[in-house]
Amino acid sequence: MTILINPATGEPVDEVPDSTPTDVAAAVRAGRDAFTHWRDTTPADRARLLLRLADLVEADAEELTRLEVEETGKPAAVFRDGELPFAIDNLRFFAGAARSLDGTGAGVLSSGYTSALIRRPIGVIGSIAPWNFPFIMAVWKIGPAIAAGNAVVIKPAPATPRSTLRLAALMAEAGAPEGLLQVVTGGAGIGQALVTDPGVDMVGVTGSTATGRAVMRGAVDGLKRVHLELGGKAPALVFDDASLADMAFGVTMGATYNTGQDCTAATRVYIARSRYDEALEALHAAMEQVRPGDPWSDETDIGPLISAAHRDRVNGFVTRASGRVLLGGKPIDAPGFYYPPTLIADADQSSEIVQGEIFGPVLVALPFDSEEEAVRLANDTPYGLASSIWSADVARALRVAHQLDVGVTWVNDHLPIASEAPHGGVKGSGFGKDMSQEAVQEYSVVRHLMIKHAAPEARDSFRPA
Ligand code: NAD
Repeated sequence: MTILINPATGEPVDEVPDSTPTDVAAAVRAGRDAFTHWRDTTPADRARLLLRLADLVEADAEELTRLEVEETGKPAAVFRDGELPFAIDNLRFFAGAARSLDGTGAGVLSSGYTSALIRRPIGVIGSIAPWNFPFIMAVWKIGPAIAAGNAVVIKPAPATPRSTLRLAALMAEAGAPEGLLQVVTGGAGIGQALVTDPGVDMVGVTGSTATGRAVMRGAVDGLKRVHLELGGKAPALVFDDASLADMAFGVTMGATYNTGQDCTAATRVYIARSRYDEALEALHAAMEQVRPGDPWSDETDIGPLISAAHRDRVNGFVTRASGRVLLGGKPIDAPGFYYPPTLIADADQSSEIVQGEIFGPVLVALPFDSEEEAVRLANDTPYGLASSIWSADVARALRVAHQLDVGVTWVNDHLPIASEAPHGGVKGSGFGKDMSQEAVQEYSVVRHLMIKHAAPEARDSFRPA
């Protein structure tokens, strides 16, 4: 049994039974049975299921909000009015995407033969999700896999399982065949049981880079397909012609949204030296206005960190940091696991506060002297997920964007996403794309069907001389 703790109070809110390895094996077997039928459904059948699910999720908004807020501590309004409608839009997008898959087609590619390229599902997908956006992450894993015709066994993070369990119940209510979507609960051990189960054909994980490696290792013997959405350390590059007011607002939002527990969070801000002090002042003023507080209050901008252990970890990064702490820097002395927006200037580029994923509302600022230096510093971490460029010069923004080793670059903003656009990184941030047509394609494989249509008398002419 895992006791779930409300991070906003530190008090238990519920408990959830832990799955055993035997439960995982049974879920995978049931998934395989479901797959043998689901793979032959039409795109219209799959779309209908996902559209019904989207409607049921919409109708269940209050309950899903309660579950998500109790377990993550994120502001209720942020979830109910932002993340949840976005997840519903994701589901509706995947329903449409199921009906417009690329990579299919037919033609005469070799004389006397008709070739058909057919996209087929992969099988049973073992998916593993993190705690920072439990509901959205579940949708990003389940939606494209089901749209492509697969069955899914998903393991949410141990601290945040209930909105995923609820999603599975809504999926059944929407008419999904038994076994198509199942949830197993537990930590790394159950995750590994899922990854290594021989009945699982592909594994996907959203989590830290270390977890991504462990999942990839677990998938090696079965030569399974792997989909990895891992950590990030996004830079924001502020050039001398940027609007500092816009930048301060956008980078603060990027650094503090979800209390910085976001793989695409703005974590390093590199500022043209000529405007460094001015930009630091603007950032200080903007970050000071971010209000941590009760997730159920409309006055609250950010909630707590996920756990006491994580708060200690974030604080450890800050207390060991080189540089000047300009704002925050100590846990908030109140019930719950609160940590304030924290701004640090002049840390060493090679130090852990600049290189490591902190996953808290901590922004580190450093100056740069040239465009080349800005690009070099931005690319100088093990991660490659997100980035932003702040400049009034479109040509410069484009030039710089093309040199960044990342999955996404925003210009004069940081964070917005869309169902149609792929999300995923390079380098230590992993590979594989969530959302968009790309995600649906990743959960499918193209096959070649070659049908001889030549008349019998023409056969001899195919033989090599
Ligand atoms: P985590 O790596 O600790 O755990 C993620 C999931 O993996 C959990 O369900 C966990 O139980 C499971 N797990 C852990 N070790 C495992 C193992 N050895 N084998 C199988 N499963 C294992 O990550 P977290 O702390 O839950 O989430 C935060 C991390 O997720 C951050 O690094 C963040 O950047 C990353 N993240 C990435 C994206 C993205 O799209 N790239 C999105 C959200 C979060």
